[in-house]
Amino acid sequence: MEKVSVESRGYFGEFGGSFIPDELQKVMNQLEEQFLKYKDDPEFIDEFKYYLKEYVGRENPLTFAANLTKQSGGAKIYLKREDLNHTGAHKINNAIGQILLAKRMGITRIIAETGAGQHGVAAATACAMFGMECIIYMGKLDTERQALNVFRMELLGAKVIPVEKGQGRLKDAVDEALGDLVQNYQNTFYLLGSAVGPHPYPTMVKHFQAIISEESKRQILEKEGKLPAAVIACTGGGSNAIGAFAHYIEEKNVRLIGVEPKEAATLTEGVPAVIHGFKCLTLLDEKGEPQPTYSIAAGLDYPGVGPEHSYLKTSGRAEYVTVTGQEALEAFLVLSKTEGIIPALESSHAVAYAMKLAAELPPEDVLIVNLSGRGDKDVEQVFNMLKN
Ligand SMILES: *Cc1c(COP(=O)(O)O)cnc(C)c1O
Repeated sequence: MEKVSVESRGYFGEFGGSFIPDELQKVMNQLEEQFLKYKDDPEFIDEFKYYLKEYVGRENPLTFAANLTKQSGGAKIYLKREDLNHTGAHKINNAIGQILLAKRMGITRIIAETGAGQHGVAAATACAMFGMECIIYMGKLDTERQALNVFRMELLGAKVIPVEKGQGRLKDAVDEALGDLVQNYQNTFYLLGSAVGPHPYPTMVKHFQAIISEESKRQILEKEGKLPAAVIACTGGGSNAIGAFAHYIEEKNVRLIGVEPKEAATLTEGVPAVIHGFKCLTLLDEKGEPQPTYSIAAGLDYPGVGPEHSYLKTSGRAEYVTVTGQEALEAFLVLSKTEGIIPALESSHAVAYAMKLAAELPPEDVLIVNLSGRGDKDVEQVFNMLKN
């Protein structure tokens, strides 16, 4: 009986769902129940909006990039400024939302996984703010490459546990976190960082990130009196993109464009498969294992992608394109120089494609680019790339 009801939820066409052991399924069912209970609760919504305003600093601007528009020629380019959020990216929106849900559930122990450290920092920040215990699982290799982010999480009061199993990478950290959750679910909440994983995570993460398009739609109507021709966002797991798309999905005249690194083109080249407990388009090697990817943007370096993007792609509602690391690097330099905004390397992928598309469209059209984060974290890497 339970199996049937679970399978009818959390699917986007054939994608999504929940492919996990029974003991973990029980925890997911409980989480779904609590999420559904609170997501439309006026007090919960007020509390979420309160922290988005007073702590994250929303609403953030929708900035007309006049110089970039002039340089590209064609359509007007607007930037949705997630880079101006506290901690410098969109991830904090979701971290605050999930922590507030944990608080309602009476849970005070938070666990999370992190690869490059960006989600770990957002989770540790939110935990510090709400006085929660925070445990971050991170592959041993990643803790060595991202020593400064480990220290940042520790400053925020989190305990970072290096995972030596497997290859000491993100996947191994996810496995450890799930193991912890199964052991300790009664007092533990798993704060997941992107629109991936078993149901209800993709739906829940979209719900909390949808604030991006809720704001941008209001803002573009105020500024231009019409909807954009296209909304453009980079896609790693897909959380900033799904948040940037959410309020436009029903607006059939608005093109939705996800931009992937050519080096991790999950949606463009992937095939349907189950990874990490859900079904999505994914890059597999000859043995059918998730294929290692090598994007210059750590946040886009994931062989899978959210199930809703997989569905938006196969149903034709959204388009997914690729840009190379080199093109993203050029866009990073152009935006810095023309607008005085240093973008994250992830966001630079979206900027690179927007510049190309703007040039093909008439000046009456407007584009919204979701600037998912700021590039301070990437300055040293770009320095090293340019030196060589
Ligand atoms: C983590 C990250 C991404 C990629 O994650 P999504 O879930 O695809 O949004 C993109 N941009 C920035 C700045 C990030 O930190």
